Amino acid sequence: MAIQDNLDFFYQKIKNTTTKLLAVSKTHSPELILEAYQTGCKVFAENRVQELVQKYETLPKDIEWHLIGTLQSNKVKYIAEFVHLIHSIDKFSLLEEVNKQAKKCNRVIDCLLQIHIAEEETKFGFDFEEAYQLLQDSKFETLENICIKGVMGMATFTDNTTQIRNEFRSLKDFFEKIKNQINKKNVVMKEISMGMSSDYEIAIEEGSTYIRVGSAIFGKR
Ligand SMILES: *Cc1c(COP(=O)(O)O)cnc(C)c1O
Repeated sequence: MAIQDNLDFFYQKIKNTTTKLLAVSKTHSPELILEAYQTGCKVFAENRVQELVQKYETLPKDIEWHLIGTLQSNKVKYIAEFVHLIHSIDKFSLLEEVNKQAKKCNRVIDCLLQIHIAEEETKFGFDFEEAYQLLQDSKFETLENICIKGVMGMATFTDNTTQIRNEFRSLKDFFEKIKNQINKKNVVMKEISMGMSSDYEIAIEEGSTYIRVGSAIFGKR
């Protein structure tokens, strides 16, 4: 069974590291996800809200669902009740909306700040400086129903492994800086979400706590 072999390969890779495996199931059928689930994998990530909600409703309820894609404020309400971690906070206004919806559900939603570490212009996220300012903002402190658990980043799509490593390292350095300098109730720095099918090995070496792996587990999309 190919999926099981692929998962085992990754469990072997992260053994004795601080890294956890996030199986990116976007575009794949509930049946395929169930196949992975039945081998013991219970942590999945999607990048579109509608697809995430549909899969949440169909699949076993002990699955931990992560959102890794761009999130529009008007869609937060659909996932607020069940989402485990939102990796893709890229605006203060989005964080405010997550806080509002979390409050309605009487829970705290864990979030990561998506940081722009790649060279490409098209990638979403905050600059380091913007993210740091956000956490310093007095308005931020009033958000009691969100908790910033760390940062997420995507490296440049390139064969230059030195560049990828430097980008991951810059994210890890920023993580450490926030951890050491920001002392707020709703900031509990624990997670660094970095590394995908093409660059997870470098990410693990650079201290990733979540690698987000799709095609290397489920095959081509
Ligand atoms: C699709 C996606 C991944 C996984 O990509 P693969 O190359 O298939 O491993 C990781 N992170 C984000 C944000 C994604 O959208």
